[in-house]
Amino acid sequence: MSQFWSDIVKELQPYVPGEQPKEGQFIKLNSNESPFPPSPHAVALMEKALHGSLALYPDAEATPVREAVAQYYAIEPQQVFVGNGSDEVLAHIFHGLFCHQGKHILFPSITYSFYPVYAKLYQVAYREVPLAVDYSIDLNPYLQANSEEVSAIIFANPNAPTGIALSLSQIEQLLNAQPNILIVVDEAYVDFGAETAVALIAKYPNLLVTQTLSKSRSLAGIRVGFAFGQASLIEALIRVKNSFNSYPIDRIAQAGAIGAFEDEAYFNQTRQMIIDSRTYLSQAVQQMGFEVLPSSTNFIFMRHSQLEAAQLAFSLREKGILVRHFKQKPIEQFLRVTIGTQKNCEKLVNALCEIVSKGMM
Ligand SMILES: *Cc1c(COP(=O)(O)O)cnc(C)c1O
Repeated sequence: MSQFWSDIVKELQPYVPGEQPKEGQFIKLNSNESPFPPSPHAVALMEKALHGSLALYPDAEATPVREAVAQYYAIEPQQVFVGNGSDEVLAHIFHGLFCHQGKHILFPSITYSFYPVYAKLYQVAYREVPLAVDYSIDLNPYLQANSEEVSAIIFANPNAPTGIALSLSQIEQLLNAQPNILIVVDEAYVDFGAETAVALIAKYPNLLVTQTLSKSRSLAGIRVGFAFGQASLIEALIRVKNSFNSYPIDRIAQAGAIGAFEDEAYFNQTRQMIIDSRTYLSQAVQQMGFEVLPSSTNFIFMRHSQLEAAQLAFSLREKGILVRHFKQKPIEQFLRVTIGTQKNCEKLVNALCEIVSKGMM
């Protein structure tokens, strides 16, 4: 604390990211990164950019990236916004689209924990909606929301940290029921088993979809995220961006983003390996007495019928494996475990086997 702090800084409760230990110290299954390197094609394009015009500012709007991604999704470049990670995109969404006098926004009580942080930063009023008993998102409260009071609804699909997905028809049901509420679908994990809503943006002016290169495209290190929506929504984000930082995506990141979308084969191969290892890991831990929520993501959310989550996380750490534990009710007995390589999953299973058999004695 210092006398020089702005008033709001004293009130902020910053997001706490998963621990990033020194490389090689731990098997890192705590922040949902890909265990695989980026596409070799993306790396080659980044190397080329490294020897290119780095003395010059990059394209401010990341136009070549918008064009490549628009082509990939068969939409228009004006329907694509590019930000420095989807976290930055989400910040611009909160700032540029959620601040409406006298209204609040809704999001699930259990979802990406950055949403309440941004809400506080931008002084957006919000209400948290409890999950259904099976930890899925309960659509009813959102379907019944009053658009005189609610400006926007945001949730992750698949949701985090539960891993459970809503279907595209459920999302469309919400879009139809609430034409005067902005619906933001955070698709950070969509490539691991859910259906993207990007194809719906042409039909619904109240839909904004966000995605990231950080999970399914193995590029958390270059910080690129997207928003997809009708041009009038994207324009709000560009206005906020250009009032904050004109050049958030450097030349190397722009090259890597284009390369990642061009290498469809690598993308499909790596995400399929994650999906296969997820099946293996889910079955193996269920045999040890863990309940596993149905995952459409690159992590599983699990709890043991008899062993404390905090203790399990501690014991795994002692064996060199990091997982994520959230102390928040009603998920305080769950662990969120990122799907690593098949080898990492097997090491995790072996470690858990030892811990569980000791713990049950
Ligand atoms: C990882 C994650 C993000 C942020 O991704 P970046 O693009 O790395 O900033 C956004 N939303 C959810 C739900 C995530 O899990």
